[in-house]
Amino acid sequence: MKQSQLFTKTRKEAPADEVAKNAQLLIRAGFINKEMAGVYSYLPLGLRVLGNLETIIREEMNAIGGQELLLTTLQDKESWEKSDRWDESKVDVWFKTKLASGTDIGLGWTHEEAITAMMRQYIQSYRDLPVYAYQIQTKFRNEARAKSGLMRGREFIMKDLYSFSRTQEDLDAFYEACAKAYERIFARAGIGEITYRTFASGGAFSKYSHEFQAISAAGEDVVYVDKEKRIAINKEVLTDEVIAELGLNKDTLVEEKSIEVGNIFKLGTRFSDPLGLSYVNETGETKPVIMGSYGIGPGRLMGTIVEALSDAKGIIWPREVSPFEVHIVSLGIDNEEIRKASDSLYEMLTSAGIDTLYDDRTEKSAGEKLADADLIGIPVRLVVSARTLESASVEMKKRAEADAVLVRAADVIVAIKTA
Ligand code: ATP
Ligand code: MG
Repeated sequence: MKQSQLFTKTRKEAPADEVAKNAQLLIRAGFINKEMAGVYSYLPLGLRVLGNLETIIREEMNAIGGQELLLTTLQDKESWEKSDRWDESKVDVWFKTKLASGTDIGLGWTHEEAITAMMRQYIQSYRDLPVYAYQIQTKFRNEARAKSGLMRGREFIMKDLYSFSRTQEDLDAFYEACAKAYERIFARAGIGEITYRTFASGGAFSKYSHEFQAISAAGEDVVYVDKEKRIAINKEVLTDEVIAELGLNKDTLVEEKSIEVGNIFKLGTRFSDPLGLSYVNETGETKPVIMGSYGIGPGRLMGTIVEALSDAKGIIWPREVSPFEVHIVSLGIDNEEIRKASDSLYEMLTSAGIDTLYDDRTEKSAGEKLADADLIGIPVRLVVSARTLESASVEMKKRAEADAVLVRAADVIVAIKTA
């Protein structure tokens, strides 16, 4: 894509009321737009990043048997009354509205009720199980505080998977497979090193749930981390008994602030009982379906990546997440030879299938272009200038590194692939 065609522009300052680093950088670089507190639109660059994260999540969910669907935002109160989660004294994040007829409607903040009610049509026998269904869909939550940018939206995207199994053992096996898939997702998203599987409160059907907590000063949670064993305990459940039960040692646990990027939860029959989702087993007995739920916030994940991987100049996208693979920055593009060399480099990369952003803008100075490239954060930058033309080369620099190298034009593609 030619940068002269991109309608977004970088800006020097974020909105004065934006206090979160992730939102400040993403707004300044033109990835998102702030509509109001906790409500952000995705612009072309931001939508590319979100799409890349969703692709990673889809691939890993499909690999463990997930089937994608899309449930509705509008929620019928009947199912929520059955599970006792309609009342605002039980759930304080509801956004509710009414149909023209006066009927109450809720805007979905999660989808256990809707999917459990729906599955009654499709699950009757043990032969119908297991089912692993997921969606990537917009949730609405009337969060009391929304000062963390993309990390705590009032409207935000969630990947939510629901598992329906015959037995507790089947649930346990899928739960473990999903935990592994989550580890692959966060590794591919570039935050594997800082993300810990964390023991958290479990509810009535399981002693613990697991959160995936990314260590970050911007986090709203507090966890105690064993860096060697690569597990953590959420402060909410930290007791001497829990530490002992998990075979950990109080002295090696480090207190850290962290961001919950995902969680997995054994629901048991918490929803299948009140909503009447059961199946007939091999011996003809009727049994409740055993459920689990598994969430990841792709927007929160994007915010977390920016919090963790940025410097004073801007964002540093991991390769698989970046809006483009390569950023060509053409300096002195008013000069015809430089323009020609830049255009042909862009064409060469594009025909090699390398997704490239090409800064072909004529009105910007070299300093402005380089600063914009650092702010936007594409991992590989190629500079074309009078100096590089002299040696029939381009200057290649990785966003995360300080030094640039000269690469001969003929070797550029190989250099990018191995960068
Ligand atoms: P938190 O404790 O941070 O409010 P939660 O326990 O309410 O999170 P879940 O309901 O389990 O979160 O949602 C699943 C995932 O959705 C979370 O792990 C997180 O990645 C994401 N998520 C939750 N709330 C928000 C939000 N307000 N904005 C963005 N992402 C969110
Ligand atoms: Mg919450």
